[in-house]
Amino acid sequence: MPAAILDGKALAQEIQAEIAQQVSEFTRQSGVTPCLAAVLVGEDPASQVYVRNKQKACERVGILSQSHRPPASISIDDLLALIDKLNRDPAVHGILVQLPLPKGLDETQMLRAVSPLKDVDAFHPENVGRIVQGRPRFLPCTPHGIQQLLLRREVPIAGARVVILGRSDIVGKPMAIMLMQRGPGGDATVTVCHTRTRNLPEVTRQADILIAAIGKAKFVTADMVKPGAVVVDVGVNRTPEGLVGDVDFQAVSQVAGQITPVPGGVGPLTITMLLHNTLAAAKMQFGS
Ligand code: NAP
Repeated sequence: MPAAILDGKALAQEIQAEIAQQVSEFTRQSGVTPCLAAVLVGEDPASQVYVRNKQKACERVGILSQSHRPPASISIDDLLALIDKLNRDPAVHGILVQLPLPKGLDETQMLRAVSPLKDVDAFHPENVGRIVQGRPRFLPCTPHGIQQLLLRREVPIAGARVVILGRSDIVGKPMAIMLMQRGPGGDATVTVCHTRTRNLPEVTRQADILIAAIGKAKFVTADMVKPGAVVVDVGVNRTPEGLVGDVDFQAVSQVAGQITPVPGGVGPLTITMLLHNTLAAAKMQFGS
């Protein structure tokens, strides 16, 4: 029987409706409208689309958005000064520096420059440390979206064997940490795979939940998946046949129990969790 679809787009709409209500409640009580400032350096077309989509999502839930678009030639000092200005601006509650940055700009340095209280991507070392210690201020948007999908669609996580493909700072690593924490949405037994993993299909076949975040089109094939497993496809790969994930959807959906599509899976949830974090940041800065 083909896998059931884990519809990220539909869940994103549900959660965004909740956030819209919470934003309106917060604004009514505090007189503050949450505001997200996006910093997009240079003209990368994919980044322009991502930032535009994030801003449209802000509008949908009543969050204000600003976009700062310095040229790729901006100096390190000028970019740091822009981030500092946003850090100090009381009308700005969340700051996101869209990655990748053009060559010559050190991403780690720029992400460290964002105030940890406005770090709605949760990339600042202070926020990463808090996540590792199990007392997060913000959760990173993509892993948080995946965790919400599993929780809200009642996929058993506690005790499950989770295999994550990819160990990036943005997806793989924080995902592993979050799913292994004690408590709801955690308590899984997690294995993280990467390019040096031996006998990869043997490892992935043990997964009750398989999360693919490697950036290789249709890399996960049916023989790598345990029958009935839950497969979450984070990959976004532009190919001549269009946008495809890291999972061979047609073949794997014949084996898996549940599967996320691309597009319409993890992507909309990532944006939704950014909205969640922006509201949380505004509440924190307001002191509620
Ligand atoms: P990344 O920084 O591109 O790193 C890729 C990871 O995959 C690395 O850890 C790498 O291992 C591992 N890897 C690559 N090829 C592999 C292979 N053949 N076998 C095993 N492991 C392999 O990762 P990322 O930024 O997390 O992005 C991954 C994908 O997710 C991309 O397609 C990206 O566009 C997508 N993405 C989507 C969203 C969303 O919201 N939908 C958000 C973020 C990312 P090594 O460490 O050994 O090199």
